[in-house]
Amino acid sequence: MGAAAVEVRFTVAPAAKRVPAAERERILANPGFGKVFSEHMAIARWERTRGWHDAEVRPYGPIAMDPGTSVLHYAQAVFEGLKAYRLQNGRVAVFRPEANAARFKRSARRLALPELPEGAFVDAIDLLVGLDADWVPSAPEHSLYLRPFMYASEVNLSVHPSDEVTFVLIASPSGSYFPSGVKPVTVWLSEDFSRAAPGGTGDAKTGGNYAGSLLAQAQAAEQGCDQVVWLDAVEHRWVEEMGGMNLFFVFGSGPKAKLMTPALTGTLLPGITRDALLTLGKDLGYEVEEGRISVEQWRSGCADNTLTEVFACGTAAVITPVGAVKSARGSWPVGDGKPGVISMRLRQALVDVQRGAARDVHGWMHAVATSG
Ligand SMILES: *Cc1c(COP(=O)(O)O)cnc(C)c1O
Repeated sequence: MGAAAVEVRFTVAPAAKRVPAAERERILANPGFGKVFSEHMAIARWERTRGWHDAEVRPYGPIAMDPGTSVLHYAQAVFEGLKAYRLQNGRVAVFRPEANAARFKRSARRLALPELPEGAFVDAIDLLVGLDADWVPSAPEHSLYLRPFMYASEVNLSVHPSDEVTFVLIASPSGSYFPSGVKPVTVWLSEDFSRAAPGGTGDAKTGGNYAGSLLAQAQAAEQGCDQVVWLDAVEHRWVEEMGGMNLFFVFGSGPKAKLMTPALTGTLLPGITRDALLTLGKDLGYEVEEGRISVEQWRSGCADNTLTEVFACGTAAVITPVGAVKSARGSWPVGDGKPGVISMRLRQALVDVQRGAARDVHGWMHAVATSG
């Protein structure tokens, strides 16, 4: 935003009537994912001539929209996903919000949206989570999922970068991704569809990438698979991502094992969980590498047992082991089909930081001041 980068200040207008504690506890006992929301939201408006304005935290509720609103037609929008956790000591902290703020800016740039200053992104989180701290669950692996997003709110059907934009932050209590224990998934290698191509929007967190992935995900489900694995769009050979998660490959076993994750070529989404696991892997003494792996190498590595574990990672599920692979040209198991030892060790290491059970040596946990 250059010289126009002014401070964005959120005013706070709390709800007059709060949800009774008993009702809230009933909801928090079984929140599921993305279906219930906390009591407030943050919202800010941007206009090309005025910059950011009307920033406020207010009661959660619908946003009225003119049918001619640009985003409904041309999908100029970006989003983020991160979590606030209840630490063992009862305090509340958010995992690496500055990293999400930086990625939000990069995504916005790619979608020709204005860049929300990182400070405003983190302020919105601090204010909303502070106000709705009672909505941060304390059960293990439960959290308050935070969803910041920004969209073209100008009412205009001509195709152009919107002159009016809206930023919103909402929060949704979420349960454990694996309520009955971590369970490996079976993946379908998508050879008909591509998620992202060179020069496209694959490295931006934008809803259009997800819209384009749904048919492939449905195809995976038809094949009896849980998730789709994306290959590069040019050769249909190099493994990129699994659904909305990054992938890791474990070669060998024991302290000499090597972790490899596909390099960020521009068609992969740079996951913050991926980044954290590269660091934690090193901390645990493993060799870590950003590289590449082809479908043939994945298959032959599993056949000769040099490739011992495969897992996907992301904010929602932390680590999801991959137990088997299916494709039009054949199927094969990964390891013994059970969650791998190293996958689970990494998972525990990250979950321990997120719930305040392990020392936060990298300064990843951003404490939130809560009132009352
Ligand atoms: C959000 C996302 C990820 C995971 O990113 P995290 O920051 O780890 O949650 C991976 N791939 C895609 C396509 C995504 O949209």
